[in-house]
Amino acid sequence: MEKIQMTTPIVEMDGDEMTRVLWKRIKEILILPYVDLKTEYYDLGLQHRDETADTVTVESALATKKYGVAVKCATITPNVQRMSEYRLHEMWKSPNGTIRRILDGTVFRAPIVCRGIRSYVPTWTKPIVLARHAYGDVYSAVDAVAAEGNKVYLVAEDKEGREVSRQLVHDFNGTTGVVQGMHNCDASIRSFAHTCFKYALEQKLPMIFATKDTISKVYDGRFKQIFAETYAQYEAAFERAGIWYLYTLIDDAVARVVRSEGGLLWACKNYDGDVMSDMVATAYGSLGMMTSVLVSPDGKYEYEAAHGTVTRHYYKYLKGEETSTNSVATIFAWTGALKKRGELDGNAALSAFAARLERATLQTIEEGEMTGDLVPLFSREGITPKKLSSEGFLQAVAERLAQ
Ligand code: NAP
Ligand code: MG
Repeated sequence: MEKIQMTTPIVEMDGDEMTRVLWKRIKEILILPYVDLKTEYYDLGLQHRDETADTVTVESALATKKYGVAVKCATITPNVQRMSEYRLHEMWKSPNGTIRRILDGTVFRAPIVCRGIRSYVPTWTKPIVLARHAYGDVYSAVDAVAAEGNKVYLVAEDKEGREVSRQLVHDFNGTTGVVQGMHNCDASIRSFAHTCFKYALEQKLPMIFATKDTISKVYDGRFKQIFAETYAQYEAAFERAGIWYLYTLIDDAVARVVRSEGGLLWACKNYDGDVMSDMVATAYGSLGMMTSVLVSPDGKYEYEAAHGTVTRHYYKYLKGEETSTNSVATIFAWTGALKKRGELDGNAALSAFAARLERATLQTIEEGEMTGDLVPLFSREGITPKKLSSEGFLQAVAERLAQ
């Protein structure tokens, strides 16, 4: 059989623990037999990040800027315990954070919907894609404790240090308390808006954006205004594509999303996105069925699974015990990258292969063969779900792919 050829490489970012184990096997048994795979390989495994003083992460992000498409394995974000476990020279920053900063991207998270796996919200039959504005607000705020008797102000100075405005935040007369100052930048909000509108058009998804501008008139009002200005550039294209855009209050957005059947893009401010993405992910069942793509305003794409390195399973694997780790989100990270590469290069065979691999993966589950996390969620008449090992599931997909 002729293997599918590639013209441009995909940036491959390897990772850690159980997902690193799955990564290798996905390539070996699901991709390499069919595709003459061209990747530019970066090892983002924690040990190699440490050996390279984390320059490898930066290089992989720059390569993504160059080639336009990357696929990333889950990676460990070091904490105190990992410092000693891996004898690290430094507590390196989250690779995802580093890559996101370099690409100035927005993360879109989408559940993989398949027959037999019901959502906890039974009306959600189509995916809800959630976009989180991953810049500013409370995530880069400064805060402080206010002593009794303090008056706390919000002060602005111009470049020469001259005070241009001063507002009293609170007079802590007779009580102690806390204060916080946060910000966002018009350029960041605008690029978030563009990326969301573009993604909605590309995926043909209607889109909701919400803030609390009735309370936060200036701050959230700015988000509302920038989204409205930006949408003016997309309105005609939205109409042509037969999709809509709705700006509303966050309370109303939550109610609408819960009552919907899914099939929409929900653009969220930073904090809303943090909270709501966990809600949406949980409602769709398993973390193993959630994909994620980082999209930059100039159209660079990095695909990955939304879950982590599944440490608990990895420790079992190291002891030689059988694991049943869901590889679906990691498979879909690969298919997402292969599809996009095919689309950008006009390589229809590559995109078609990616679609075929996705179908084989879903078909495996729909026919009742799945990893342990999905078994309690599965219900289809006449089919008793069968729990497979990590390797067994990949083999079951490989069989269907070969047909
Ligand atoms: P996790 O790896 O997502 O796993 C948390 C738990 O969720 C697992 O123990 C497992 O539950 C379940 N789970 C997640 N993915 C699964 C899958 N594919 N198949 C089956 N079950 C799955 O999160 P964590 O344990 O909090 O974090 C582990 C490491 O991942 C950390 O070092 C963290 O820094 C890193 N992390 C990386 C990323 C990323 O690279 N994008 C994201 C998040 C976390 P049971 O144990 O009950 O089976
Ligand atoms: Mg969260």
